[in-house]
Amino acid sequence: MDRVDFLVIGAGIAGLSAAAHLAQHGSVAVCESESAPGFHSSGRSAAFAHFDMDSALVRALTAASMPFLEEPAAKRHPAMFIGLAGQERKLDEVEQSYRAWAPHVRRITAEKAREIVPALNTGNGALVGALLDTEARKLDAHAMLEGHRRLLRDRGGTMAVDAKVTGLRREGDRWTIDTPSQSYSAGAVINAAGAWADKVAALGGVAPIGIRPLRRTVITFDVPEGLDVSSWPFTKTVGSGFYFEPEGRGRLLACPMDEGASEPCDAQPEEEDVALAAWRVEEATTLEIRRIASKWAGLRSFAPDRLPVAGFDPSAPGFFWLAGQGGFGLQTSPAMSLAVEALATRGDWPDELSAVAVTAEQLSPARLR
Ligand SMILES: Cc1cc2nc3c(=O)[nH]c(=O)nc-3n(C[C@H](O)[C@H](O)[C@H](O)COP(=O)(O)OP(=O)(O)OC[C@H]3O[C@@H](n4cnc5c(N)ncnc54)[C@H](O)[C@@H]3O)c2cc1C
Repeated sequence: MDRVDFLVIGAGIAGLSAAAHLAQHGSVAVCESESAPGFHSSGRSAAFAHFDMDSALVRALTAASMPFLEEPAAKRHPAMFIGLAGQERKLDEVEQSYRAWAPHVRRITAEKAREIVPALNTGNGALVGALLDTEARKLDAHAMLEGHRRLLRDRGGTMAVDAKVTGLRREGDRWTIDTPSQSYSAGAVINAAGAWADKVAALGGVAPIGIRPLRRTVITFDVPEGLDVSSWPFTKTVGSGFYFEPEGRGRLLACPMDEGASEPCDAQPEEEDVALAAWRVEEATTLEIRRIASKWAGLRSFAPDRLPVAGFDPSAPGFFWLAGQGGFGLQTSPAMSLAVEALATRGDWPDELSAVAVTAEQLSPARLR
């Protein structure tokens, strides 16, 4: 049996970034069910960082993370939030919420938005205005995962793949963790199992906190030959609708911002959601989607209040929740891993989080009990 200080379950962005931080304080092993890190949500995201998220807490965590989101894992790329007919109020609200964190964001007219993305339909009030954020970031999920994996290794930590945690029990003041080929004894277990977070807790007899996986669908398609979309911003409706972003010169990635209830699983795109993605883009633009180049789906996992969770379970000693990263887990991972480092080692609360008024209580699983 391997003896470690921290055993992290799940090699997505949450687990790997936390593991790399914790390896500065003690021995760390990461166990991942699949044959490679990032197989589930972390490898299927749209990989963009911006402030237009549902809650002030997520915006604050994003603000604390932005300085860490730099080359090679992140590149500055503009984001544009568009208001379609009927979304005037929502556009005002988003502008307001941006003020605190990103004062550089500018309100622009529908015509100006169309100069930036000429395919947008602006006739008959189809587009009521937009916000332009020139400081947003395009993320590289693979580079982020690989960077943390290397840091973990350099700090003496290990990662096992094809290592699904199948047994979890408290023995004395430690946890015993079983995988098919290896068992571990750990001072603390970090549950970073994404969509499976409640299932992993159940393995150890720990009460669930209500993590809900919601499926989200992505398509890619080619734009007409000769049209170079590589400088188009990440373009997202302020309310329900869609977003798209360039994938190189001649291809766009689009998402209908669907939220289909799902069991934790290897999510696959539903035809209905694929069609919805294409339809919403065609409705709002002059683009015609003749052929879908690729499609996939992933699970975004939410706590009941849609806020992220990091902290020891109030009634299961040594059991640490790192869950509910929703649709913001990549962009908030730098701040969340600082929080995990402080909470799991009972260290000082990071200045980066104090500066944006994020507290341990806001992240604690105790709020969900
Ligand atoms: C379509 C889509 C678009 C998105 N766009 C963005 C975006 O633009 N920006 C952004 O910041 N976020 C985005 N997200 C959200 C982001 O991808 C997630 O918040 C983030 O990846 C969650 O990371 P995680 O590590 O918690 O989960 P995961 O990456 O799912 O990792 C959990 C890991 O735990 C493993 N596991 C589960 N059970 C066990 C077990 N018993 N034993 C061992 N291992 C186990 C799984 O195999 C998995 O690898 C998007 C998500 C989707 C689906």
